[in-house]
Amino acid sequence: NALINAADISRHYTMADGTVQALDNVSLTVNVGEFIAITGPSGSGKSTLMNILGLLDTCDSGTYMFSGLDTKTLADNELSRIRNERIGFIFQSFNLIPTLSVVENVALPLTYRGIPTAKRLERSLSALEAVGLSGRLSHKPYELSGGQQQRVAIARAIAADPDLILADEPCGNLDSRSGKEVMELLLSRHKCGKTVILITHSLSDAKYADRILTVCDGKLYK
Ligand code: ADP
Ligand code: ADP
Repeated sequence: NALINAADISRHYTMADGTVQALDNVSLTVNVGEFIAITGPSGSGKSTLMNILGLLDTCDSGTYMFSGLDTKTLADNELSRIRNERIGFIFQSFNLIPTLSVVENVALPLTYRGIPTAKRLERSLSALEAVGLSGRLSHKPYELSGGQQQRVAIARAIAADPDLILADEPCGNLDSRSGKEVMELLLSRHKCGKTVILITHSLSDAKYADRILTVCDGKLYK
């Protein structure tokens, strides 16, 4: 039961001074409910792969099937609908909106999905409770530590109850204790049956996953 099935996908970038083959014939299947980690050195193609898997970018060649749908055949509005409804993103730099409170940050993506106000609040509060931040609802992101900000970002991702969580170096800016809390939260999503893809430099974080893959020079090794 594959959620993700990528076959021979490649992606290059063209610049004034030449071409970089960021992904070179990568194939990857991730089943529903699996927790996988993708590791590899800086510049190896991890973020490029994450952007394609998260439907933020497209490959030049190869086939990417998400939940049985050939992504090449989907229109932009269908791709953004899948992104909003089925994928939760977590980034190294948190990407919270500085002018909004904690609860407003978590509720915002639900607004885009047309969920009514009372329901948005209910889901946001329950997600914030799950990450242990019920006491910080009206704080602004800058009033929180890095670890707390990342937990807000996780609450934002899980409030929408996505099938897939894509986390790109979620612990990259955190101390080890906050990083461990973040990893435990990802693990608990996996235990709820959700699919988790973690991109990380850290071998100890990668060990939370069922399966560790490595990207090197645009190629994926199993
Ligand atoms: P990683 O996430 O593993 O650090 P990336 O996917 O960001 O790797 O990058 C893979 C390769 O593609 C690197 O050589 C990088 O310099 C290049 N690259 C990434 N994004 C761009 C871009 N927008 N334009 C040009 N080159 C890029
Ligand atoms: P972490 O390692 O979790 O990222 P930090 O070292 O950034 O933690 O912060 C440690 C403590 O200081 C946290 O309890 C946090 O609430 C508090 N803190 C950090 N930055 C600020 C800030 N700008 N305003 C108020 N409190 C802050």
